[in-house]
Amino acid sequence: MSDAVKVGFVPFSAASRGILVVFCDDTLKSGAATRKALGKAADTIKRAAATNAFKAKSGSTLDILAPEGIKAPRLIVVGIGKPSDIKEKDFLKFGGVIAGKLNAGSDAVTVIAELADGAMQPDTAAAIASGIRLRAYKFDRYKTKKKDGENGAVRADVSIAVGDVAAAKKAFAPEQHIVDGVIIARELVNEPPNVLYPEEFARRASQLKKVGVDVEILDVKAMTKLGMGALLGVAQGSTRPGRTVIMRWNGGKKGEQPVAFVGKGVCFDTGGISIKGAANMEDMKGDMGGAACVVGLMHALAARKAKVNAVGAIGLVENMPDGNAQRPGDIVTSMSGQTIEIINTDAEGRLVLADVLWYVAKKFKPKFMVDLATLTGAIMVALGTEHAGLFSNNDELAERLTKVGIETGERVWRMPLGPEYDKMIDSQFADVKNAGARNGGSITAAQFLQRFVDDTPWAHLDIAGTAMGAPKTDINHSWGSGYGVRLLERLVTEYYETTK
Ligand code: MN
Ligand code: ZN
Repeated sequence: MSDAVKVGFVPFSAASRGILVVFCDDTLKSGAATRKALGKAADTIKRAAATNAFKAKSGSTLDILAPEGIKAPRLIVVGIGKPSDIKEKDFLKFGGVIAGKLNAGSDAVTVIAELADGAMQPDTAAAIASGIRLRAYKFDRYKTKKKDGENGAVRADVSIAVGDVAAAKKAFAPEQHIVDGVIIARELVNEPPNVLYPEEFARRASQLKKVGVDVEILDVKAMTKLGMGALLGVAQGSTRPGRTVIMRWNGGKKGEQPVAFVGKGVCFDTGGISIKGAANMEDMKGDMGGAACVVGLMHALAARKAKVNAVGAIGLVENMPDGNAQRPGDIVTSMSGQTIEIINTDAEGRLVLADVLWYVAKKFKPKFMVDLATLTGAIMVALGTEHAGLFSNNDELAERLTKVGIETGERVWRMPLGPEYDKMIDSQFADVKNAGARNGGSITAAQFLQRFVDDTPWAHLDIAGTAMGAPKTDINHSWGSGYGVRLLERLVTEYYETTK
């Protein structure tokens, strides 16, 4: 990754370059290394805190230019609130808050990673480093006129001063690959659809070979041979042919059942013949957010050499209206043999996933499959943009996803499945239809997918509200959020790696 922000670790004794960043809790206390770095400026903080009513609430900042008593050109005090209230993900946030205070100039920055009771733990310092990089990311490749200041990406050379440099570096080593994975996913979501179409997406996924991932690309001929009639039905309306990409990372025991991740990769979704309205249609370049997450996740797992066998599979198509596009009323035969009546050509994501899920279930017999898809607008009506919708045929998998969601801040909320909903997609002409009525739209979509997973433990994440255009957060100001990479990476780390 070519980052504009460099983050490294130095010992407390070498903490002297550039803008100074320190932490303090709600009692305005700080540790010995911080007091030493601050010198007489400590009084300035106390005075400024009093006049600005700075209470060191979690994530709040006090920004002082040319502080008296030290040579730093600027001092940023980051509040951490009440120490006993701090959650793991808060340190990522503190990193994000720091990056948010920096600007497009090339700044040297020193962050004193210390709390009142001493140096921060290595993984805490690493989380701050990750938060800085995540928040600093900006997609501005296509802006030819970059202004100095607010319009450019943050450029900074950040030294994080810690108690144990070697331990902090060791803790950050895997974490920075996860950050890279998130940024890869964001890049893919942000790219315009004339640049990122199925073949180009497949080419970019192939770059994972550099980190040791096996990448296989199924072209139209191969997919036709496999009988992927549901995916190909969507793809047939575009002059840009569809692709399925299978990525395999074999870091676990030889022959051990893999875990599997499946992503919807509709590089652009016009709705097809059931065409969408013009308003905000440009957002449909992000209809491949699930596939983007899978690529970012596979990067993270491979680059940090996760001890797991993992399969990533993405179905890539463009859904276009055309003389050759599929029609409402068409009946297609999926790879599973089940026939599908097309009711609405804008319900295309589930058709793509139907064949890729079936292919992965049969070919790899995974421990579980998690699919991610920007599948329904209805999920935003239900959950807003704070949670992804979670649907699952397996309580253990659902509980694990919920737990790692809380830990990482990439939260999920479980929604129901059931035979009553299943009836809503029975077709009078084929085995199933691709759209139910308006009510329960996210559920009937999940219910459709469930018909293509067989007995495989499976979870479906509807990320239409979280993958793109979600409100900015402390660690993300990009339109494409990279949602799901950190969530699923944590799922693997916590539950599915063979040994540590
Ligand atoms: Mn659609
Ligand atoms: Zn779509």
